[in-house]
Amino acid sequence: DEVSEPPYLSGLNAAQREAVETLDGPVLMLAGAGTGKTRALTARLAHLLLTGRAMPGQILAVTFTNKAAREMKERVAGLLGRSVEGWWLGTFHSLAARFLRRYAEMAGLQPNFTILDPDDQLRLMKQILVAEGIDDKAWPARAVLSAVERWKDKGLTPERVSAGEAGAVANGRGVELYAAYQARLQQLNACDFGDLLLHCIEIFRSRPEVLAELHRQFRYLLVDEYQDTNVAQYLWLRLIAQGHKNICCVGDDDQSIYGWRGAEVGNILRFEQDFPGAKVIRLERNYRSTPTILGAASGLIAKNEGRLGKTLWTEGDAGEHIRVRGLWDGEAEARFVGDEIEALQRAGESLGEMAILLRTTAMMREFEDRFNAIGLPHRIVGGPRFYERLEVRDALAYLRVVAQPADDLAFERIVNKPKRGLGEATLKQLRQAARAQGLPLLETARRLIATDELKPKARKALTDVVESFLRWRQAAEELPHTELAETVLEESGYIEMWRQDTAIEAPGRLENLVALVDGMADFENLQGFLEHVGLVMENLQETGGEQVSIMTLHAAKGLEFDTVFLAGWEEGLFPNQRALDETGLRGLEEERRLAYVGLTRARRRLFVTFAANRRLHGSWAAAIPSRFVDELPPEHVEVESEQGLYGQAAAAWGGSFGRFGAEEDPFGPRRVSPGMSRAQRYANEFRPFIDGTATVVESLPAEGGFAIGERVFHTKFGYGSVVRTEGEKLTVAFDHSGEKRVMAAFLVPADQ
Ligand code: ATP
Ligand code: MG
Repeated sequence: DEVSEPPYLSGLNAAQREAVETLDGPVLMLAGAGTGKTRALTARLAHLLLTGRAMPGQILAVTFTNKAAREMKERVAGLLGRSVEGWWLGTFHSLAARFLRRYAEMAGLQPNFTILDPDDQLRLMKQILVAEGIDDKAWPARAVLSAVERWKDKGLTPERVSAGEAGAVANGRGVELYAAYQARLQQLNACDFGDLLLHCIEIFRSRPEVLAELHRQFRYLLVDEYQDTNVAQYLWLRLIAQGHKNICCVGDDDQSIYGWRGAEVGNILRFEQDFPGAKVIRLERNYRSTPTILGAASGLIAKNEGRLGKTLWTEGDAGEHIRVRGLWDGEAEARFVGDEIEALQRAGESLGEMAILLRTTAMMREFEDRFNAIGLPHRIVGGPRFYERLEVRDALAYLRVVAQPADDLAFERIVNKPKRGLGEATLKQLRQAARAQGLPLLETARRLIATDELKPKARKALTDVVESFLRWRQAAEELPHTELAETVLEESGYIEMWRQDTAIEAPGRLENLVALVDGMADFENLQGFLEHVGLVMENLQETGGEQVSIMTLHAAKGLEFDTVFLAGWEEGLFPNQRALDETGLRGLEEERRLAYVGLTRARRRLFVTFAANRRLHGSWAAAIPSRFVDELPPEHVEVESEQGLYGQAAAAWGGSFGRFGAEEDPFGPRRVSPGMSRAQRYANEFRPFIDGTATVVESLPAEGGFAIGERVFHTKFGYGSVVRTEGEKLTVAFDHSGEKRVMAAFLVPADQ
């Protein structure tokens, strides 16, 4: 009849509409890039709300990045014409974190638990290896940690890891280390990314009443980028979906690019078995790209064997050829890209509609340098580079301790930054007492300063720290979190430390601190902000704006730009040698899917570049063009080459695979702070933790347990007799130093 339909429906094609309007039962939208999967999913969300099928709090919607979640939120709010409260829309991690805050106790945590970032995880694992006497050369903490992460990706708690799998790690001690790591996390009232899901899964499995409550709450589930879910995410989803079975997943098997992190493309292929009666909807019309771009991408991905295969078509003019360009070296490549961008800009194209997509983050610097030199506005997207910076991490550590005083890792990081005369000896004492009493460092410090254990100078400095944190915690109740952050950074002397610093990078660090506080304003409160930072795997800067985006191919998933530059298409670099070495054909196919993701980000214009010479780790190597260059159907491509470099580079072929094998993985820089070598950084950060006290402390009494009159020995004051006890604080009459107040942790029963 005459009823006009809502605009979000009329803009859809028939297949998309079906996906939007099939509200009951499982639905799978399986379709190629740019076919409007995300758009249809967004419309479905709006439809559920607008038809009154569900309240916002009854829909659980999972996106692959926080940015995608934000965009979906804005879009739906736009469609509905009002903002919506009470969403459950976010990444697996952020949603799981929200559940876990609700049910923390069931996982043995307090609701204000900390989510560790990769650096903290690594530091923790390192401590455990030291405590267990495991040789770091044979089994680097990073390797053990990554095994633990893979287990977590598979939904395996230490008890569930099979003997076969465990045997391959740390000479068969993998599970033991995993368990120790978990125990330590628990003590710290912390968890890592993997735990967010894992704890939820364990709770869902062991507490039927919790699961039933979730089933009552969530009537509809929506999942984007389903092809990249790992086993843990899959289990988590399935448990929740069991309730109403109204689950709608969308994805593309050709865009599965996270196999190296445990994603299982099989999850999408098995959907119909998992959810019997599922309606499978295929979309074939691509709305994003020109026929040339789509043709090139389709031609390339056709080389993969393990795929479902699909036909895609798009309307419109063929569009510009894909420009393939060989350059002399990385610098020339960056210069070329910069020049092309400026030319496009002069022709009226927007910088915000251009992106440079790279296989590794290590390749970003060359572009950054060039763009800085020519003053081309750009931003790095897709990694928490900003939050990686030394000064930002320090500032975050302060805020973490304010939010969660039991966060020992954060406390250790800043207790003597700026320098307060809290030397290693004092810290050692503090750690020892904390371990002995099973208390957090800050709380231990609070008790320690009421005794004579510390040297006057250290005692004064520590008193200052303790009182500051008490004050800031108080202030946190009253001040907006941005003001709180300013207060903390000023009063702690941390900002002043950089003001006094004459190093060339100090002003930049101050700017970053300002930017940090500015950025906090986007969040409701301190906890929300810290959680976001902890979860950050995606770009945090806003889209749009007149800036060229530089990002990894992985980070570009789901996005689109008018113009895309795909740089560094060289054998070894892309396909990435390590992927080939580690997983052979499977690795190559995943690399090819990554190329497909890259190509399909472009709407109108695509450049592919490679260099004949590449400097990596300080030495030069001749490079040859990627096999993916040859796999682009020639009819869609226009090859241009600087002085015939294409041929020259190809001639340089000499079994030179492997030359580029060792560069960073796309998430590498999360763990590496710019401007500091990795060795330097870890040397600095681990030293306090590996001072050997751990094993000694283990044998000390966990509690005071000294009787009045008992003879005791204290390392500093010698022998004496206990006069008074107040919990762990004792007054002892020492034979040679008179009466002192001391900590029980520093006493042993005298052997005389
Ligand atoms: P990817 O696989 O890359 O995530 P996708 O399948 O999620 O892609 P969308 O991002 O939803 O695709 O859509 C691609 C582009 O096509 C967007 O610009 C979107 O607005 C547009 N689009 C989608 N459906 C339609 C339609 N029915 N009519 C016009 N434009 C559409
Ligand atoms: Mg999408």
